[in-house]
Amino acid sequence: MTVKLPDNVDMIIKALHSAGYEAYVVGGCTRDSIMGLKPDDWDITTSALPRQVKEVFSSYHIIETGIKHGTVTVIADGMPVEITTYRIDGEYTDNRHPNEVRFTRTLREDLSRRDFTINAICFSSEEGITDKFGGISDIQKKCVRCIGEPSERFNEDALRILRALRFASVLEFEIEEKTAEAIHIHRALLKNIAVERISAEFNKLLVGNGVGDILRKYRDVFAVFIPEIEPMFDFDQRNYHHYLDVWEHTVKVVENSDANKSSRLAALFHDIGKPATFALDENGVGHFKGHAKQSEITARKILNRLRCDGATISEVCTLVLHHDDDITPRRPLLKRWLGRYGETGLRRLIDLKRADNLAQSEEWRDRLTTLAECEKIIDEIIAEGECFSLKTLAVNGRDLMALGIPSGERIGKVLNELLSAVLDGKLENEKDALLKYAEKLK
Ligand code: ATP
Ligand code: MG
Repeated sequence: MTVKLPDNVDMIIKALHSAGYEAYVVGGCTRDSIMGLKPDDWDITTSALPRQVKEVFSSYHIIETGIKHGTVTVIADGMPVEITTYRIDGEYTDNRHPNEVRFTRTLREDLSRRDFTINAICFSSEEGITDKFGGISDIQKKCVRCIGEPSERFNEDALRILRALRFASVLEFEIEEKTAEAIHIHRALLKNIAVERISAEFNKLLVGNGVGDILRKYRDVFAVFIPEIEPMFDFDQRNYHHYLDVWEHTVKVVENSDANKSSRLAALFHDIGKPATFALDENGVGHFKGHAKQSEITARKILNRLRCDGATISEVCTLVLHHDDDITPRRPLLKRWLGRYGETGLRRLIDLKRADNLAQSEEWRDRLTTLAECEKIIDEIIAEGECFSLKTLAVNGRDLMALGIPSGERIGKVLNELLSAVLDGKLENEKDALLKYAEKLK
């Protein structure tokens, strides 16, 4: 077994060796390489102290931001490579930050402070693989296992709870029994973790291929930082459209939806307003009038609390609010929706509606054909470069001002009327025709 190192990483390791220090790549890059995946970045662990690392690479551009934790970043061939001195974490008293970081000369000590066996494998071209905690065997078994005693490790740093779930989701691994048990037991420790760190792990977890399994098995963990999901658990919909309770349905929609952050968040929250809007009719059938609006309100609250960025919040909330709207395969209407949601937005809305429909009772999956027809028409509109927004209309505000239409509100109104006529197919998107029509509207 070997790891193919980029030239600059190999050079850095060799330079440290020549200066008499130990050095290896470690962590995600080794794990991903062994799994045949392409690593995002390369981390190096070394016996050299930060000042010694700086000496070895004195002729390179160096970034010192992580130096307190023993990390020196060297820019080699334009690429930043993090070099971290072997360290042991001191006491943890608040379930997150070690009180001190101590450097050590032994690799084993450095590896034993790492979170999971699969993240503690090292490699160098000279020595090959060093695997002191059975990481390779766990990769082969597709297993996330804590190094050491899981309860202790989660008590030291509770973010590891969410990291375990993230690796299981992204790599499609199972979580080893004792590790899993400790995750459930210690889940409340996540309350001590900064919300930004939780969000970062949670977002990665959501786009993993194994997300469904994790949401099912560890819903109690997610409810620690999103308690609003709890009413969905086991909530019987009592409606013939549905064969699953609200949470199981939600999980399936997440699994079925496109693997991007906004789509997955929208899928997770699309029905969160259902329990609050539930009502039974005289036949004992459940209805959820206004649930999309309620879901949107709750989703916005949660996403703000999780410090999600504004663009994502707005995209997710639009998807949630409109997930139940009828989208029909009619060209003028689809152009209007394209204008309103943008191409990506509309495609994601259709994707969400498909994911939703696929998670409903089989006899109600007829909407899938309609959605596919919509997508075909959208493809045509885009391929033909047809106009669907003011941006692509063949006249602009200045053209209308030249006709003597007063600037401001009136111009906006005329532009929108022109666009509307184009979308309805009454007018070509062609300058002369549009100007002539605008004259009449004047
Ligand atoms: P990826 O970069 O793909 O997200 P990674 O495993 O490289 O995954 P990083 O967050 O980049 O994860 O961390 C690098 C390495 O540092 C990990 O592989 C692990 O060995 C160690 N590590 C990171 N966070 C922790 C933690 N909270 N507790 C213990 N070890 C950690
Ligand atoms: Mg990494």
